[in-house]
Amino acid sequence: MLQVDLQGGFGEKGRTSIAVTDGKTRIMLDAGIKVGAVGDDYYPLLARPVSEIDALFISHAHEDHIGALCRLVKLGYGGPIYMTEETRAEMPATLAQYADPADLHRFPPPDAQIRLFRPGATLRAGALHVETGPSGHVVGGVWFAVTAEGLRAVYAADMVPNSAVFHMQPLPPCDLLILDASYGADPVPGTERASRIAAWVSAHADGCVLPTPLSGRSLELMAAIDLPFAIESGMRGALAAQISATEALQAGMAEALERKLAMAINWHVGDSLPNCPLMVHDGMGVAGPARAAISVADAQDHPILLSGHLPEGSPGALLAEKGRADWIRMPTHPTLPENLALWEAAGRPAVLGHSCDRQVLDDLHEHLPALETAFRTGQTYLIG
Ligand SMILES: [Zn+2]
Repeated sequence: MLQVDLQGGFGEKGRTSIAVTDGKTRIMLDAGIKVGAVGDDYYPLLARPVSEIDALFISHAHEDHIGALCRLVKLGYGGPIYMTEETRAEMPATLAQYADPADLHRFPPPDAQIRLFRPGATLRAGALHVETGPSGHVVGGVWFAVTAEGLRAVYAADMVPNSAVFHMQPLPPCDLLILDASYGADPVPGTERASRIAAWVSAHADGCVLPTPLSGRSLELMAAIDLPFAIESGMRGALAAQISATEALQAGMAEALERKLAMAINWHVGDSLPNCPLMVHDGMGVAGPARAAISVADAQDHPILLSGHLPEGSPGALLAEKGRADWIRMPTHPTLPENLALWEAAGRPAVLGHSCDRQVLDDLHEHLPALETAFRTGQTYLIG
């Protein structure tokens, strides 16, 4: 029997985390935070004390998957923390923005606990085999497949099966599939969204602000935009590092993105807004230079295009609500046909969805009746 504890991201967006145990070894996959939540709700709901966790695996460095790392160290977690080199490189920027500052100062993730692996590697914890593969969501981002006693649970983490930019490795067949349900039943393919964004940006070529996360979607936006643009200067190193991870990218993409990045103009917080599109992180206006850029743009009636998840009450959400920003989704999670295909290819297993609220799960359930919609953070799923 495999037991899966749902510790965050079920019936909600954020603080994504599960724990898997065969009764002897207990591993935890992801430790996210929930933007907009306060107190304990900001962190995963740990089913067992950290002293019982034998190993921790991190899928990628977005805040809703890694933001609670300092919290775990503070609680006394002293075991291995598995992540890819790219996640390791991006982790400090995410923790600087989303970890409790006092925790980050006193309980930074110790180097001695971090174990690096390549996407595609198979790792072990006790009798648990943990397969990994590129998830197509960000450079260095992975899915996890946990196998023991002939049973397998696949945790998709964040995933893009048909990204124009990133390569995804197919999932193995499994008994339980935990899908990235962020987009529910949204059927619009990435190519169509990308051309809508390209058209919007062309119509605002003389100046607009494009808030984006530092990794993942920023490369998708760069691939979609075919005219001169500026970036916040601090993004350049992180973008160059992602582009240099050529094995994570679709064929020919590294060269195209490298050329665009070389031509991008540097912008600094405090400069006047450039008379061309400006990419700036984060994507929600919650942290990073986007916070300042959005506020200046708003005051000057400068066009803003948001393209991702906007937590309630975030600066991005407030701008969209008052009609001061447009919003076109740039897919960085599976669309409906993609999730249906993942489930078919996995052998039509039992299926849960993470990273969305109840309504979005219900929408997906209409197209994927096998999806179990009643499971929430704090509950346990038994396989076998
Ligand atoms: Zn993500």
